[in-house]
Amino acid sequence: MDKTRELIFEMSSRGVENIFLGHEEFNETPMIEKTLLASEKADLPQVGELDIVRHYTNLSKLNFSIDANFYPLGSCTMKYNPKINEEIASFRGFASLHPMLPETTVQGMLELLYTAGEYLKEISGLPGVSLLPAAGAHGELAGNFIFAKYFNDRNEIRTKMLIPDSAHGTNPASAIMAGFQPVEIPSDENGDIDLKALKEAMDESVAGIMMTQPNTLGIFDSNFKKVAQIVHERGGLVYMDGANMNAMLCHVKPGEIGVDIMHFNLHKTFSTPHGMGGPGAGPICVSGKLTEYLPVPVIGKDQNGTFHMEDNIPRSVGRMTEGYGNIGVILKALVYMMALGVEGLKDATDIAVLNANYVKVSLEKHYHLHFKGLCKHECVFDNSFQKDKGIRTLDIAKRLLDYGLHAPTVYFPLTVKEAIMVEPTETESKRSLDRFIQVMTKIAGECNDSPELLKNAPTKTPVRRLDETQAARNPILKWERGEQ
Ligand SMILES: *Cc1c(COP(=O)(O)O)cnc(C)c1O
Repeated sequence: MDKTRELIFEMSSRGVENIFLGHEEFNETPMIEKTLLASEKADLPQVGELDIVRHYTNLSKLNFSIDANFYPLGSCTMKYNPKINEEIASFRGFASLHPMLPETTVQGMLELLYTAGEYLKEISGLPGVSLLPAAGAHGELAGNFIFAKYFNDRNEIRTKMLIPDSAHGTNPASAIMAGFQPVEIPSDENGDIDLKALKEAMDESVAGIMMTQPNTLGIFDSNFKKVAQIVHERGGLVYMDGANMNAMLCHVKPGEIGVDIMHFNLHKTFSTPHGMGGPGAGPICVSGKLTEYLPVPVIGKDQNGTFHMEDNIPRSVGRMTEGYGNIGVILKALVYMMALGVEGLKDATDIAVLNANYVKVSLEKHYHLHFKGLCKHECVFDNSFQKDKGIRTLDIAKRLLDYGLHAPTVYFPLTVKEAIMVEPTETESKRSLDRFIQVMTKIAGECNDSPELLKNAPTKTPVRRLDETQAARNPILKWERGEQ
């Protein structure tokens, strides 16, 4: 077996000592009642320290990460995370704060959170903010709860939520969790929402619309203001999924184009590492009439400059998270915003859009492009040029792994058959984009000359092509003795 994949139990040999802790003292366990102690010694692996270090170091190298290579996962915004963010967020004074400490002892932290909130208000053009939601989808849920309470307070019975077909899957899920029935609105040939269909669907039974802007095709809906107007005219509210804010930061303020509530994905737009369900933050910003519905606590600033947590918000939807939210993530995003400033954030957007368009025009000869116009932060191809050879998008994605690159997002958005969705982000250099373009071009050639290379890919990764259905249905999550 490949040495790096040996399991720690298989490396064990009886009697190998590891670290020396002065056995006598550590065998004494005065804090634990005798009857609760295990009667037999645990059968732990016995492996020397150096072997353990090598084992875990080698395991860590099997992981793919943005620090190791290009990671163009569309819709996920896998940008580089400046190390200073990590360093500051892990200062002991921040990282070891207890969430139940009295306000007077955590003024510094409250000020930072307050400042982060002020920045987001400025960027969104909306006057209310809550940093509490712990992910983008959690922000959507908070927003939908606010919609529900707002209409309830007005004695309006509105049961439907309009959602374009190009929306992120979390949008309908959040609407349903808050008690709304999602109604899908089709896109037109430009990838914008179909205004005629929207007008037909919009009436007094509709609470509002959830728009991802720019949408999951990387298209900025040019009719957005019109959409907001149609929804507002019938008393509805407009939610903007702001996960793609890195395509419009400091260029467009959502509050100025008709948005009532939006969420940010701090862990996408403002760096901070994420993935595999890791910690995130999905703050929401709301319009004036909705500030009294924000989740509690809200951070306030008194006239004398002290900060406090306000629990007494009259129509609040209640608590959505423990403590003050995922403050480590918020701190990293704050460092990113402070380091770049308004001009820097604007530049970041310009470069993210430029990079996506560079990839788009460089590859459109080789891969069929779904929408031809200018894209924002991401572009969507499909396998139309390759499918005659029996090549599926999955084969192209797997072949990329053999070249040491992470595959783009595939089979999403659902509106594009066999989609390949590339989001380079602003942090990639021209050099790394050129390498991606060169590899993708090479793979397009392989599709013609030696399609079996794609069918068998990947061949160079620690595991080959997985049976994804089995892996999802019957995952093996723990090692058992005798299993290989
Ligand atoms: C990532 C994303 C979400 C969900 O955000 P999470 O933080 O993963 O919950 C919602 N909408 C869009 C457009 C996204 O890209």
